[in-house]
Amino acid sequence: MASVKFLIPILCLSVLLVAIAPSGASQVPWRTIDSLPTYNLVDEDPRPPKGYEKEWLERSRHIWTEAYMYFYEDWKGRKPVFNYYLVSQCQDEETNEIYRETIRKSINYILRYRDKFVELYPQFSYLLKLKLQFSEGPLNDNVFNIPIYISSGCVVSANSYGYFFEKIILSFHMDAFHEIVHTLGSGHMVYGSNQYYAFKTPWGWVGDIGDNTLSWYALALAWSWLRFYDTHPGYVKEDFASKLQMNLKYRFSVYSDWGHSAIIKYSVTARDAEESGIIVRPFDTFFKVELRGGAVISALILRPEEWMKGNPNFDGRGVARAFVGDQRLCCECMTLLTTRCP
Ligand SMILES: [Zn+2]
Repeated sequence: MASVKFLIPILCLSVLLVAIAPSGASQVPWRTIDSLPTYNLVDEDPRPPKGYEKEWLERSRHIWTEAYMYFYEDWKGRKPVFNYYLVSQCQDEETNEIYRETIRKSINYILRYRDKFVELYPQFSYLLKLKLQFSEGPLNDNVFNIPIYISSGCVVSANSYGYFFEKIILSFHMDAFHEIVHTLGSGHMVYGSNQYYAFKTPWGWVGDIGDNTLSWYALALAWSWLRFYDTHPGYVKEDFASKLQMNLKYRFSVYSDWGHSAIIKYSVTARDAEESGIIVRPFDTFFKVELRGGAVISALILRPEEWMKGNPNFDGRGVARAFVGDQRLCCECMTLLTTRCP
């Protein structure tokens, strides 16, 4: 009887396969991203270019980023808790609420990417000691209180700035993710003179700092003291990454030293990461969606119709342009949307 029980689902599956088999190979019902009509999405193709492997090997030596850690004596005992709060001179409460919502979402994304990195590379699980939160104001505790300043102009045509471990000046809500990653000590991703470098991998585009394994590898090195301490050790000018005993590739340098506090810099190329066992890739991919519980479903690439262009529900690119209406801000915004600045 057991054999019959097992047979039933297999038979059903066979019937299904017959039912969905294409009736004629020449009538291809699905479009690839190459065949998108009258829509300039050349750069959206997530697949690496032809000859990618050879090119990548060469390029990976020149793609680099860095992460910083401050070893200030008066930081001794500070908890690895980043408490962000809004300090806004903007009088428009609706705009403030958009800022708050984007900051909350950005923190959630950063934590999700951090968790994904640890899931892929559990040897860096000490990163889970990092806490990020958004609250009403500074905590009366020895933590990283990070004010996020919004000017009276609410949305202004100026750069946003993220200062390592200190503060953020936000000119536009979509910059929040990028600047928050800076406050954790992350530098930009650089290729040649391009400080906002994004590149293709077999898993899709690497977009912004913080959304890929290269950024988090550098951060894991900078925060390696968390492997040995629960709170900041103060003025300890040591290369804790070398004590991890993982044979990691990187460049370590004392950026500044004032005798009572120091700044340490870790620089890594994509090649360093690969040679340390880290696959350089974005965390979010185009090709699949991973559901809670482990289910993985393929993502369908839909063909955009004419009416979808500029539609707020279907055209993220159009929305960004329409909302911002400013080329420079648009550039910052598009950086977040995994497209490099012009
Ligand atoms: Zn930046």
